[in-house]
Amino acid sequence: MTTQNAINFRRELHNLAELSKHEEKTSQYIATKLREMGFTVKEHVGGFGLVVDIDSGVPGPTLMLRADMDALPYVSEEDPSKLIAIHACGHDAHSAVLLASAQTIKDVIKKGKVRLVFQPGEESLSGALDMTKDGVLEGVDIACGFHIRPIQDMPFGTFCSAITHVACATIEVEIKGRQAHAARPHLGINPIEAAVQYITTVGLMKVNPNKSWSIKPTQIHSEKGATNSIPSFVKLAFDVRAQDNEVLNEILSKMKAASDGLEISFGTQNYFERTEFCPGPDYDKELMKTMDETIKEQFGEQALAAPCGGGGEDFHFYKHSKPELRTVYFGIGAGATPGLHDRNMTFDDSILPSGSDLVVAFVKKLLG
Ligand SMILES: [Zn+2]
Ligand SMILES: [Zn+2]
Repeated sequence: MTTQNAINFRRELHNLAELSKHEEKTSQYIATKLREMGFTVKEHVGGFGLVVDIDSGVPGPTLMLRADMDALPYVSEEDPSKLIAIHACGHDAHSAVLLASAQTIKDVIKKGKVRLVFQPGEESLSGALDMTKDGVLEGVDIACGFHIRPIQDMPFGTFCSAITHVACATIEVEIKGRQAHAARPHLGINPIEAAVQYITTVGLMKVNPNKSWSIKPTQIHSEKGATNSIPSFVKLAFDVRAQDNEVLNEILSKMKAASDGLEISFGTQNYFERTEFCPGPDYDKELMKTMDETIKEQFGEQALAAPCGGGGEDFHFYKHSKPELRTVYFGIGAGATPGLHDRNMTFDDSILPSGSDLVVAFVKKLLG
């Protein structure tokens, strides 16, 4: 068994693509391969998640290596009434990289434990939390994740020690007004006018300009029916992103205060809810340095790329759930085009064995 197997594993996993929380065949495939390698596999951890412990038998820290497994839904080109699963985020590659590194990890570990974690439900932002509920973090000191990167972020064949994900949230605000004949607007409370004011207020909010953040209204709904009647409600949705958790929390509390203020000034009744949330990264600086060194030693100075940005990642729920956990998350310059989450996303899979080699080298550095 060599790390070269990452390419074949990935090609086979690619054809099994399954949506978040439905990764049954993917999970079975990985479990079978792990058993063939002689590992004891714990199945159904947080849904279709898999856990394998590799114990050196010598006291030391426990390092969790996490790969995600799920694909994304797209409308079928043959039958537009159907959704199909496509590995457009490269999670097949991540599972393959971890799978191909498993046996060599067993050979290099000299102290502590490695916990291999194949996680379902990343795209639905539920898998890390579900696995945490099933105890995946028990005894874990360090967690390491990784992701392939698009060509715009990193040159092919390079690696970075940190992907600078963002903290993000969806905020939904329902504004209830009071219906009235449009000829007598003073007898009603127009929620559309309140919504316009709310969007304007939120758009004028100020947060530390040295940090990156954004707030965008993404949905607006009101009732259908007579156009000469003041409607009774408006529902708004906002996508909010920030460089770190602190800025995100500041924005959310200001948005809530603006909603409370609207109730006073317009007389509306508002329902403010955070319907989706994903924490941002809080990486361990020492581990980032160790990862930088490992990349340089393994592939040479020229292979080390600068940390680069990306969307949200549910991996950060691990740190959020267990604050003392030390985390790191490396990027693999896989030359992905045209971009992640594009249904036609492709990348050069000849990089995958190097991804597995990096995983092994990192284990050796920490626990060798
Ligand atoms: Zn994704
Ligand atoms: Zn992804």
